[in-house]
Amino acid sequence: MKKLKKKIEECLKTVWTIDTCCPKYHVFWDKENNPSAGQCAVTSLVVQDYFGGELWYCKHFKHYWNRINGLEIDLTIHQFPKDCEPCFDRIKSRNILLKEKNLRRRYELLKNLVCEYLKGGEIMSKPTCEEQRNYVAQIEKKANIIVESAQKVIDKTEEMIKQMKYSTRVVIGIAVISWILSIIISFGLSF
Ligand SMILES: [Zn+2]
Repeated sequence: MKKLKKKIEECLKTVWTIDTCCPKYHVFWDKENNPSAGQCAVTSLVVQDYFGGELWYCKHFKHYWNRINGLEIDLTIHQFPKDCEPCFDRIKSRNILLKEKNLRRRYELLKNLVCEYLKGGEIMSKPTCEEQRNYVAQIEKKANIIVESAQKVIDKTEEMIKQMKYSTRVVIGIAVISWILSIIISFGLSF
């Protein structure tokens, strides 16, 4: 049981995200320092999926944890300071809990993440150095493509402006020449 608990704790630490955290606790959530903040309801529901037992609830801290075969298991207790001890106020029904839309969405997400982790899915493994380097290279490549295409647009616009200037000059030139010609012709005709 201890080994299993450790494994599940490890799993949860890896998969908890801000998206599985209760929106009210987003300000407290921190992947490194406080990963279990706002995760108590969804976590105890997932633990219940795997091990059964009851959902225990403390109304003072709005905190949930599990009681399995007479044993209390609280995998999100570390979000509280050490002198903060939730007490047992009542057993909560999972069906009533899951009627709340946001909680249900977060529960389903956490359930999937835990399931993927236990299957050894790739999404849980940290990227290797090489993968990270490739990722950065990909982003840089994309950025370069954007810069290049922007430069192309600028070049084309400049060329268009140049051509416009040139054709304006030609039009003005023709107008001036024809004006001069018309004067010369009219002079020629008057003599
Ligand atoms: Zn209480």
